[in-house]
Amino acid sequence: MERTLAIIKPDAVAARSTGSILQRAEAAGFSIVAMRLVWLSKTDAEGFYAVHRERPFFSDLTTFMSSGPSVVLALAAPDAIKRWRALMGATDPAQAEEGCLRREFGRSIENNATHGSDGSETAAFELNYFFRGLELG
Ligand code: ATP
Ligand code: MG
Repeated sequence: MERTLAIIKPDAVAARSTGSILQRAEAAGFSIVAMRLVWLSKTDAEGFYAVHRERPFFSDLTTFMSSGPSVVLALAAPDAIKRWRALMGATDPAQAEEGCLRREFGRSIENNATHGSDGSETAAFELNYFFRGLELG
């Protein structure tokens, strides 16, 4: 079993897609290990996306991520990191394949509905950013 950190981003929560996305995650074989609704501050979002701080879209990204509540999730499955990213599809919903979450629920490269950790070190950092060891069991 592997764990990954997933986020249902503010655009998808505002669009009332949370239930549908959770259903898709469970149907694809992910177990929900921990889950919380959280309205990130701009500073929280900057800390979370610190690896992107030099990117031109950093300010827009952190403004978007602090624009409303998100649902943060610890998901478990064999090969969870890679499989969750495959279920999400490409960063840009227009490039994501049919059946992928971002294709179905995303609207643009910024408003792309979901996040997933991109590697085991990132997953460890991101899980720890949102959840205490106790909550992860
Ligand atoms: P995430 O980290 O959210 O799972 P990702 O790993 O597919 O997405 P990253 O390159 O890590 O993509 O970018 C982080 C987020 O920054 C993207 O999900 C997207 O919302 C935003 N982003 C990425 N590239 C751009 C861009 N060119 N313009 C605007 N926003 C972007
Ligand atoms: Mg990423």
